[in-house]
Amino acid sequence: MPVAIAEEILECDPYKNASVKLLREYSDDIVNLKPGKPINALIVFVGFEDRKAVEADRSKLTRISKKVGNFYSQVSEGGISFNWFLHPTTTQLGKSIATYNASARGNIGSAQIIEDTQISLRKEIDIDDLDLVLVVTPSTTLRSEVSNSIAYLDRGNGIVNSAILASDFWKSEVNWQIVAHEIGHAFGLLDLYNLETANLISEGRASYFDQFEFMKAYDLMNWPNAKSPSLVLWNRFQIDSTLSSRIICFTDGVEKYRLVSINSSKPGYKGVLVPLLNSRVMMIEVRDSIGVDAKIGKSDLGVITYVVNLNTESGKGPIRVDCSNAQKSKFSNCGLKAGQSRIAEGFKVAIEKYSKEEIILSIVRKY
Ligand SMILES: [Zn+2]
Repeated sequence: MPVAIAEEILECDPYKNASVKLLREYSDDIVNLKPGKPINALIVFVGFEDRKAVEADRSKLTRISKKVGNFYSQVSEGGISFNWFLHPTTTQLGKSIATYNASARGNIGSAQIIEDTQISLRKEIDIDDLDLVLVVTPSTTLRSEVSNSIAYLDRGNGIVNSAILASDFWKSEVNWQIVAHEIGHAFGLLDLYNLETANLISEGRASYFDQFEFMKAYDLMNWPNAKSPSLVLWNRFQIDSTLSSRIICFTDGVEKYRLVSINSSKPGYKGVLVPLLNSRVMMIEVRDSIGVDAKIGKSDLGVITYVVNLNTESGKGPIRVDCSNAQKSKFSNCGLKAGQSRIAEGFKVAIEKYSKEEIILSIVRKY
């Protein structure tokens, strides 16, 4: 199973940038997508012996890819950009869809489809210059035939980073978020939903929202189809480490911190990082209804606190937001508003001032 790797926790001086360098990747042998230069991404449609590609699907995917590109540009403050290429012909795989046995979550059948597609592509084009290949199954395939889209990560074995898009996950253009989620894995981000609960849902033993208890609507690695798909500042920082200039470390004795919303284009810090024991950190950030958070729910707005546990595996809650009401409620009430406070991880976080321009909060160690 993928685990996070904590590289090092360095100094935390008051009113200096967080020089905390923590990498979260699946493992050391993965070649993750990196910001800095445009990401070359190829969209390729595949057909199976018993499923033909649908010509009309192509324009839909072009629109979806634009939305995904926009999203990553916004969350990285312009650090990430994509060059999208649409492969002109369908890659016809010689087998039937059933032969791949690709219906289970995280199955190897999906990985096999990706490998076969890339082997076939290699005969036509040079794929080594690509950073990402999106393999799109025909819109006539069913969820029961190809499961949740999975990311297949470059392990240096000649297979390029790839995600497979099962029809259910892109047929509707609203589902560009699922595509963005899968690409998030190629950047090294972990699943934040409760994988165990997700498996119970498919057996009818838990209800849909239960799986999103850890991070609610705050991150699309948790709940891709939330109204305002977004990424917490921690995940943005994992993708693009230059965002460390937007994070300030908590220091004892320094009580007041000024923040702007994580979607703000204004200068200023966007988050406070509080180092905790046992490879854990707490992050504090402001979620306002601007940018990618434009449609964030009223109960989700405000200053949130969450704990990142670097030793927790993907799908087991490596990041968990603090909320005042039941973890399983859809309406979170996790955001602190003006005048409110919370004790979290032995720190009292209180909102002193909350305006459009800036948010001033105090953080005091209690224990
Ligand atoms: Zn995922």
